[in-house]
Amino acid sequence: MKNSTDTLHHFIFEDRFNNPMPIRGNLVHLNDTYQQVLQHQTLPTVLKYALGELMAASALLSATLKMDGALVLQIQSKGLLKLLVVECSSDLNMRATAKWDETKVSQIEEKIFFDLVKNGQFIITLDPKVGEAYQGVVPIEGESVAEMLQNYMLRSQQIDTSLWLHCDETSASGMLLQKLPDFGGHLGGVAAPVLDYDADAWNRMNHLANTVTNDELQNLPAETLLTRLFGEEDIRLFEPKSTQFHCSCNQNSVASMLRMLGEEELNSILAEFGKIEVNCDFCNKHYLFDAVDTAQLLATEASVNISNAKH
Ligand SMILES: [Zn+2]
Repeated sequence: MKNSTDTLHHFIFEDRFNNPMPIRGNLVHLNDTYQQVLQHQTLPTVLKYALGELMAASALLSATLKMDGALVLQIQSKGLLKLLVVECSSDLNMRATAKWDETKVSQIEEKIFFDLVKNGQFIITLDPKVGEAYQGVVPIEGESVAEMLQNYMLRSQQIDTSLWLHCDETSASGMLLQKLPDFGGHLGGVAAPVLDYDADAWNRMNHLANTVTNDELQNLPAETLLTRLFGEEDIRLFEPKSTQFHCSCNQNSVASMLRMLGEEELNSILAEFGKIEVNCDFCNKHYLFDAVDTAQLLATEASVNISNAKH
């Protein structure tokens, strides 16, 4: 049966006493979510697949975070590819876009992902609704989106994470396995019972998971896939959550972005074009600010400053 829904499944491994083992996993299928991202932009194939893989990865990682907010994954490079960016909220609302040298499409098509990103940076941002944002910036290490993220999670976060990602014209899919940090150690300050400690479990699950094919990842329903890969293991599969394309842009967020350009810059655009036009890179929505709107958004800034000054 073709998996045609946009879902994220969470699963955990259990030992023979039905106690959870400190290894968790997620499976994701993005069909409509991925297609809607592609509707708003025409991408060279290599970038389309990389963006799809990054989308699948962002949903898989987002589901491991205990955070109410957004996870943003960015690949920045200075060559033919400028930027791949994916945002995934804790509700699995997703948006994604790419920037590249549009005059060199045929050159880009001849490249593999690694050539386009090898001197680039990987940036991960956690933006909680409450509290401070976190941002990590590292050089890109790895020849694929999956390798790059595995390296990041291990070196920067000290968390063993394995990823399998696949993307084609129709859908993006992926699987994640993650070793919980207290694996084989002391749980909550109390030594884990010796009987429950399965030292080889992480290696065994990875070995089994490594047999997954792109076709299986893309087409098999979660239950069938897990049974095929880990037939001898006890797995608890949770109810899936759905993913969807959603762009959070609106008149206010665009106005805030324009304010950051500053009064002088905005007035010079107005003087030249008579209006300020902004297209959202994620959803292509068009925003228009005339002289009156611009004066208003600058006045809002002034009043915000005054109210801040009072505190
Ligand atoms: Zn938008």
